[in-house]
Amino acid sequence: MIASTWPTKPLGTIPDPPRAIVWHHDASPPGPSPGALSWITSSYAGQKPSAQFWVDTQGTWWLIGQGKAWHAGTVGPPYKGVADSANSVGIETDHTVGEPWPPVMLDSLRRGTAALLKAWGHGPDRLFFHKQIGYPYGRKVDPAGLDLEPERQRVGELMRGGAPAPKPTAPAPKPLGGKPSPAQVAFPLGPDGKLYFGPRGGRGAVSGFEGTNLMATDLAPRVRGWIAQIQRAVGVTADGLYGDRTKAAVAAWQRKQGLDPDGLVGWRSWEKLGGKK
Ligand SMILES: [Zn+2]
Repeated sequence: MIASTWPTKPLGTIPDPPRAIVWHHDASPPGPSPGALSWITSSYAGQKPSAQFWVDTQGTWWLIGQGKAWHAGTVGPPYKGVADSANSVGIETDHTVGEPWPPVMLDSLRRGTAALLKAWGHGPDRLFFHKQIGYPYGRKVDPAGLDLEPERQRVGELMRGGAPAPKPTAPAPKPLGGKPSPAQVAFPLGPDGKLYFGPRGGRGAVSGFEGTNLMATDLAPRVRGWIAQIQRAVGVTADGLYGDRTKAAVAAWQRKQGLDPDGLVGWRSWEKLGGKK
């Protein structure tokens, strides 16, 4: 079905063929939520399409817009140039956390994905999940209730149902290095050490001040809560803004704990502080 907003001209371009497909869920209430389609298409009219496709609970594919859609947001470094919004196609689904996937919907999603990847000359390894690539890692949970590898396998089986699947056209993105520890995974800014809590100015510093790291993302309301946890633990005013006073108090606390007293909070300090996501 073609949504009423389907444009005559794309709002931006992505490669032809696109380099990847990313599955999402729209977090609409359980059951059929046609209202979600109007939300996604009105975002198109607002020049910020959220996806190129929307698949409903009956398995019907709705075409929302051509060209670029702002579906992926910030992606982890290994996925840039492949699964980011500038290079990939986003498929939104009428689904939310805890909702069962109707078999007809899942079957349609897999078949459509297989057909597109095959037409584009890619392997099933070019299917990605938003919860896998969203950065900082752990920022996204969609599509909930599905695991990537089994879905890639099923899509691959469907692709092999016809002619043999062609080889990927470019090297697939490198997987992340070694498995992160539980303490790294529990750190709210991601397990890879690229972001840390600290005063503004540092390259990966998350300070809670406007215009700094993460304050333009959907994590913004939570950033100051995390910083307030740190401030309470080290005994300074819990205003959610990481400035020089917080840095000095953190450094003093780190010295007592036998940690590197750099005054910055990464996953090691976060674990010792007993911080919660
Ligand atoms: Zn998403």
